[in-house]
Amino acid sequence: MIKTTFIEEDFVKYEDPKNIMMELFGVTCSVCGIEEIDFIDQKAPKTLGQVAQEILDENPEIDDEELNEMIEPQIEAWQELDDYNASIGMPTFLCYNCHDQLIEGEISISMNCEDTENN
Ligand SMILES: [Zn+2]
Repeated sequence: MIKTTFIEEDFVKYEDPKNIMMELFGVTCSVCGIEEIDFIDQKAPKTLGQVAQEILDENPEIDDEELNEMIEPQIEAWQELDDYNASIGMPTFLCYNCHDQLIEGEISISMNCEDTENN
């Protein structure tokens, strides 16, 4: 099912301590491509920064390599979400402006899908 309307509840505030997502993937707004993410899909898993923070709180002595290994499953969860979202026309990451405009219905997400069902 392709998503065409968006409401505030579709998104939550994006918090990524230390900008780990940005550093690892160079995440950008799914709509306009700028690097200032303010909102993410409410279905999104915890950000890598949040997960890293929790791991570090519990294991302050952990080294980078171990930390990376523990974050790995979360990276896959993000990849899956992003792939799924791409298939339904749901942006995973949004900047402030695009978030506002999507909810106001001022912009829409363009999809590369050809045959959508006839209504
Ligand atoms: Zn944007």
